[in-house]
Amino acid sequence: MTQNLFRDDAYLTECTATVTAISEQGLVLDRTVFYPLGGGQAGDAGVLVLADGREIVIADTRKGKNAEGQFTEAVCHLPALPHADAPVLEALLQTGLQVGDQVIARIDWARRHRLMRFHTTTHLLCHLVPQLVNGCSITPDYARLDFNMTDPLDKDVLSAGIARLVAAVHPVTVGSITDAELDANPALVKSMSVQPPRGSGQVRTIRIGTEQMIDFQPCGGTHVANTSEIGAVIVTKIEKKSATTRRVVLGFAA
Ligand SMILES: [Zn+2]
Repeated sequence: MTQNLFRDDAYLTECTATVTAISEQGLVLDRTVFYPLGGGQAGDAGVLVLADGREIVIADTRKGKNAEGQFTEAVCHLPALPHADAPVLEALLQTGLQVGDQVIARIDWARRHRLMRFHTTTHLLCHLVPQLVNGCSITPDYARLDFNMTDPLDKDVLSAGIARLVAAVHPVTVGSITDAELDANPALVKSMSVQPPRGSGQVRTIRIGTEQMIDFQPCGGTHVANTSEIGAVIVTKIEKKSATTRRVVLGFAA
């Protein structure tokens, strides 16, 4: 089990940690600042700094899986590989790292901050387009959100809506509700494709706005602390993916 430091503080860029497992699934630490792929948000990249100063490049981060293929509480750090189908375990063993070793885990902060800006923007889109979401992908270079709807959407109207919410300097706060509260308010879940981060009896929530509630939903991802930090994010494209799906693609303004 890995302590997920990014859950309480998305701005932590590094931590000291101890290696607890090394396998084909990747390298597991007792605690980490690396966010594993989930909820549509890409896994973090970065480096592990060894005691002798050497750096191991981490290309991606995933949740661990048990023999039945279910997610575990382990966060697996995947090393950069010499080629795409190279064995992960071999690459890790070649570093000389062993269980029990201390490392500094440091994320690629510039990349992560782009993911945070995009993720919070997808929640702003949920306010601007009050329809259910049936797909979501957040990468460092673009994000896309698929809405279950048949009406057309206007790219410029949505970009202006995002700019207005960014300029309004709304705080973004992490909270939690109980599983029972979520069950009593199923409309809080705006995604048909991403399951709320349940498991501990508490569900993590992201709220945008204080006096004026802009958006409130269960979410396990990393977010900026204020909408002003999003900066110049625009809608670059709207696609009709199917008769009942409109895809909104976000990018950074040039
Ligand atoms: Zn989210």
